[in-house]
Amino acid sequence: MSFADLNLIPELQRAVADEGYSEPTPIQAKAIPAVLERRDIMGCAQTGTGKTAGFTLPMLQLLAPYANTSPSPARHPVRALVLTPTRELAAQVFDSVKTYGKFLKLRSTVVYGGTDMQPQTKTLREGVDILVATPGRLLDHVQQKSVALGQVEILVMDEADRMLDMGFLPDIRRILALLPTQRQSLLFSATFSEEIKKLANQMLHSPMLIEVARRNAPADLVKHQVYETPALRKRAVLANLIRSRDMKQVLVFLRMKRDCNKLARELLRDGINATAIHSDRTQAEREQALADFKEGRSTVLVATDIAARGIDIEELPYVINYELPYTPEDYVHRIGRTGRAGMPGEAISLVCPDEMRLLADIEKLLKRAIPRQSVEEGAADREAEREYERSQERRPRREERNAEPRIAAPAPAMAAAPSPVAAHKPRPQLAADGFDFSKPYEPASNPSAATNASPVPQRQRLNRPQAALLGGSVSRDKK
Ligand code: AMP
Repeated sequence: MSFADLNLIPELQRAVADEGYSEPTPIQAKAIPAVLERRDIMGCAQTGTGKTAGFTLPMLQLLAPYANTSPSPARHPVRALVLTPTRELAAQVFDSVKTYGKFLKLRSTVVYGGTDMQPQTKTLREGVDILVATPGRLLDHVQQKSVALGQVEILVMDEADRMLDMGFLPDIRRILALLPTQRQSLLFSATFSEEIKKLANQMLHSPMLIEVARRNAPADLVKHQVYETPALRKRAVLANLIRSRDMKQVLVFLRMKRDCNKLARELLRDGINATAIHSDRTQAEREQALADFKEGRSTVLVATDIAARGIDIEELPYVINYELPYTPEDYVHRIGRTGRAGMPGEAISLVCPDEMRLLADIEKLLKRAIPRQSVEEGAADREAEREYERSQERRPRREERNAEPRIAAPAPAMAAAPSPVAAHKPRPQLAADGFDFSKPYEPASNPSAATNASPVPQRQRLNRPQAALLGGSVSRDKK
């Protein structure tokens, strides 16, 4: 099937050809005709499936008759609104709107928090046909009367599950109340929870359900691997993995934003080029970190779930879960960043004893056990580990270098990164509850048993101040 078979107008076919796309992806093949028929859509698709073009192309086509060059704002009311949970995703969707719509005289813009409102206000007042926005900043503009939503014909909610996770539901309800009831609505979500179904029931009319992957199924090309690793050894294991596998581009996930900078700093000290991205950084810093990573200037991007949401990096070979997420759906989102566009990818999770229950939840969702490897056996490749230790020995002690005098002691993970020999004859490292981290970890259950283990109760997983736990929360898309 070609894009011409989908009855796309020549302007869009040319734009798509310029991007080098030879044929539509499965979600595009299904979504484009349905949107053109003005149907509501419930799309269950991950990032990386081509879903952005799946809704942007037909949206542009439906709006093409309105294209005009008049300078009058009245000739450019917002007719299409795309809501996204994060600034990064908003920027990426806006890029797609510009790319695919470059031969059409339609105006578009993007508004999100973390940047000056003034230029956004000016652009909005001049009139835009297509508006991409994060919910919080959009409502700020509504309040300031810099934008009116009474003429919206098409509403797209991208990554709706993440918007709910981030606590945007009240904002979404306020926005929905400002839109005409007669409109076309497209709702996309990587996972299909009960809450999403509820939202879909409220905002969609006889939607066409489009699923391109098995429900909650991660990309098939991803190889999953678990390294059972005591918490205190994670950093050494991570550094070893990156070195021994000669990883050139790896996205590392943590739960808390405050830990991202710390890990990136520690990796830098280990000689690994790492940078962090999380919602506390300014927009400019986040964009810089992402650009550095995309263009290969940094090897490792350390991110929270929220900051990484929607990051589009083609053919990302490795995703490493330094910590498992609190909800299994987030695992699916995380690894959705690898195994794209037909390229194989690897999702490696460093799992400490405390996280075995989270792992069981993930395996339940995936409906399979993830192969496990103990750090002692392999991954932390013995030779690489020795090399790591040697490099540590070669490094002058911090006191000798007289650097960063405020940090008196080595970081705990460093202190606890034993050599292979030490790993076999460890000094006891007792946790508060008496657990001895220096003993080889013996899982309480085998993988298949883990799969059957009872999950964390639903309430605990879904009723989240999770945004806070994942490091995004309170700031959402704050100014
Ligand atoms: P998305 O799922 O929208 O984030 O898209 C993932 C990536 O696939 C983006 O980098 C797009 O440029 C690319 N893409 C979208 N549609 C196609 C297509 N038909 N053929 C090849 N690549 C595509």
